[in-house]
Amino acid sequence: AKKNPNEPEFMQAVVEVAETVIPFIEQNKKYQNKMLLERMVESDRIFTFRVTWIDDKGDIQVNRGYRIQMNSAIGPYKGGLRFHPSVNLSILKFLAFEQTFKNSLTTLPMGGGKGGADFDPKGKSDNEVMRFCQSFMTELCKHIGPDTDVPAGDIGVGGREVGYLFGQYKRIRNEFTGVLTGKGISFGGSLIRPEATGYGAVYFAQSMLATHGDSFEGKTVVISGSGNVAQYAAQKATQLGGKVVTMSDSAGYIHDADGIDAAKLAHIMEIKNELRGRISDYTTKYPHATYHAGSRPWEIKCDVALPCATQNELNQTEATLLINNGCRCVAEGANMPTTPEAVHAFQNAKILFAPGKASNAGGVATSGLEMSQNSLRLSWTAEEVDEKLKSIMLNIHASCVKYGTDDSGYVDYVKGANIAGFVKVADAMLAQGVV
Ligand code: NDP
Repeated sequence: AKKNPNEPEFMQAVVEVAETVIPFIEQNKKYQNKMLLERMVESDRIFTFRVTWIDDKGDIQVNRGYRIQMNSAIGPYKGGLRFHPSVNLSILKFLAFEQTFKNSLTTLPMGGGKGGADFDPKGKSDNEVMRFCQSFMTELCKHIGPDTDVPAGDIGVGGREVGYLFGQYKRIRNEFTGVLTGKGISFGGSLIRPEATGYGAVYFAQSMLATHGDSFEGKTVVISGSGNVAQYAAQKATQLGGKVVTMSDSAGYIHDADGIDAAKLAHIMEIKNELRGRISDYTTKYPHATYHAGSRPWEIKCDVALPCATQNELNQTEATLLINNGCRCVAEGANMPTTPEAVHAFQNAKILFAPGKASNAGGVATSGLEMSQNSLRLSWTAEEVDEKLKSIMLNIHASCVKYGTDDSGYVDYVKGANIAGFVKVADAMLAQGVV
């Protein structure tokens, strides 16, 4: 804490990993006295830079850009870019640290990184977003490359932004390579990449439910967020027979007790992705649904909860509410949406709980598949990619069970994911010497 003042999110992520990994190190001679965790919490390097751009009125705007290159023991740095006014060093370091373990869990050769800017795409025109992305990439391109560091999307960075960023990289470097993932299908993107994080989270939850002989069929599902991850989590949960009754954004949530079916979800996608509107607009077309301004959806009774918006969006009081309302499975689609106290509440109640580094790893895994396709210069079919995604999620689930099952048979997915992620990175670091 002394070394990283004012970095509460980073400290939160490190403490959560340390709580489970330190006892494991103490039991395994091979990892003792090697300063492995101490090395893992120190980023390989961090860049911060000025991003200057001109808005539609002709005024000059200044933002701060970042790239954290956290750990490259098992592959090139890999991790998304977040554009949101709340972006700061603490948030990006927590995300980059988590990313290192997550990428290790995927079994693909990717190190950990993260980046972004305190730029708010909300309310900006397409041209403003393009000019911002071009200015951001003009600096970032000095530090990334297809074999060095491969960014992708995250909050506020979707297909539109990745397209502008890729265009600028190509213009400056005069090379057409897989330097970014989440690209459009016409220029090297992978089928199923947009769906992958949400689908993967649901596949993971499906495996968790299966350990209790259960499935999504007939389950009431509460989802937060209405962005990329939330949309495709809702789609897959519905396809598997679940009834999704909520979605949200930073202003509030909608509750549709009849379920958000495929047609209603298509409307939400139009509102959020094309009209760039608010989730409250849903009730204009579907007035039987209710809108709850300034609230989060955890007060709605459900069997499965999928937090898919942002960090620390589900606290202890809300966890207790979910448990008392009969919720039996929580799988994180977002990164660290559940506070540490809420995680402990779920674990003490022995309900199924999966941390994002395991359950949302489908996105980066499919980014890894996009990198493979770019290197091979070919495209796999949607079915091929989806099959690979499913099998990766099953493998991650199996790793969590392997390292996280206690004597009573309860699976601590947090412990399982942390240890499984740690082992591969630690082994690579040991083999590469003191660097
Ligand atoms: P999007 O920008 O597409 O959507 C983000 C959603 O979360 C929006 O509904 C947004 O509402 C809401 N949100 C953002 N900030 C807040 C906040 N402070 N409080 C409440 N709601 C908020 O992002 P993604 O769907 O891509 O990302 C969602 C989460 O999933 C993040 O934690 C991200 O790190 C994680 N993730 C994403 C992956 C991906 O492949 N995209 C991969 C793995 C993890 P509003 O519209 O009001 O801003």
